[in-house]
Amino acid sequence: MFKGILIEKDESAYRASVKELDEAQLPDGSVTVRVSHSTLNYKDGLAITGKAPVVRKFPLVPGIDLAGVVEQSTHPEYKPGDSVVLNGWGVGEGHWGGLAQKARLNGDWLVPLPAAFAPQQAMAIGTAGYTAMLCVMALERHGVRPEHGEILVTGAAGGVGSVAIAVLAKLGYTVVAATGRAQDGDYLKLLGAAEIVDRALFSNAGKPLGRERWAGAIDVVGSHVLANICATLKYRGVVAACGLAAGMDFPATVAPFILRGVTLAGVDSVMCPRNERLVAWQRLAKDLDVAKLGTIGREVSLAEAIPLAESILKGEVRGRVVVDVNR
Ligand code: NDP
Repeated sequence: MFKGILIEKDESAYRASVKELDEAQLPDGSVTVRVSHSTLNYKDGLAITGKAPVVRKFPLVPGIDLAGVVEQSTHPEYKPGDSVVLNGWGVGEGHWGGLAQKARLNGDWLVPLPAAFAPQQAMAIGTAGYTAMLCVMALERHGVRPEHGEILVTGAAGGVGSVAIAVLAKLGYTVVAATGRAQDGDYLKLLGAAEIVDRALFSNAGKPLGRERWAGAIDVVGSHVLANICATLKYRGVVAACGLAAGMDFPATVAPFILRGVTLAGVDSVMCPRNERLVAWQRLAKDLDVAKLGTIGREVSLAEAIPLAESILKGEVRGRVVVDVNR
């Protein structure tokens, strides 16, 4: 038996609770992992609360991320004792996930834990941090360099935003952090933000084109915020868009694209090919100051993670929540 969060749904209720589970209930897979840590992402918040139909079958263990040690394997690349990380691939949505002491997975989904990180540090990064790295790589791929000017990071005090600021600052970019939490200014400066701006500046419908300011941007918010970023990118600027914290809509015009040649680069972490994941994790090991993970992450137990699911959806969680599944 092992402990995990289980999401159940019937005619009367949608509920998540910590349960004793039987190993026989685990799904099929080539690798069984003894999980040590998982984490709470925005998507886990949606799954645990049921606020959006993220969970595709019931009952289900949520958790789109995990770090742990291989217990059993029939996969050629993994043997018992190997330390591994998993992000995405629909785990925690349609396949039992990381918010439990055990998981059984397709070995092709796993990434070896980089030597630079302890398991809890890998989970302080998690999908949010690995997505932040994919966004930085997207800016680089489209030619954005530190000397080109300021980079705007939205949702700055959240998970993707926090890691994005730390990585961009270490790479020498000038980072402007957009946040609704003025009280977290010291935290954002500690991560490497050069300036803090109020997110309200971007929240309402704006003009098709505004004063050119940003050489690049990483946006987790969507809706008017993404439209306003496009309208204020410099000529040939780039925005890496990965989130929808304010909505799925994109109320923009084509003006910034056809008059300023800006690029809207979409970023998806879930189905991102394995090679690019390996590069992203290698880049995190090199380009993220490990000491900053202590500032970004805090640890909770499985039971404590459940009420935090509501908080993350309200934008009340600062940085990253690491879940010690054995606590
Ligand atoms: P967090 O909840 O940790 O951070 C989101 C932040 O967005 C909040 O902290 C807040 O920042 C800001 N925010 C929230 N609501 C609004 C709003 N209405 N208007 C403006 N800003 C708002 O979430 P994550 O960082 O984990 O994820 C961020 C987004 O990215 C989510 O939408 C998530 O689904 C998406 N995502 C997508 C991935 C992909 O593969 N494409 C992978 C990972 C995440 P502040 O308090 O600083 O204002």
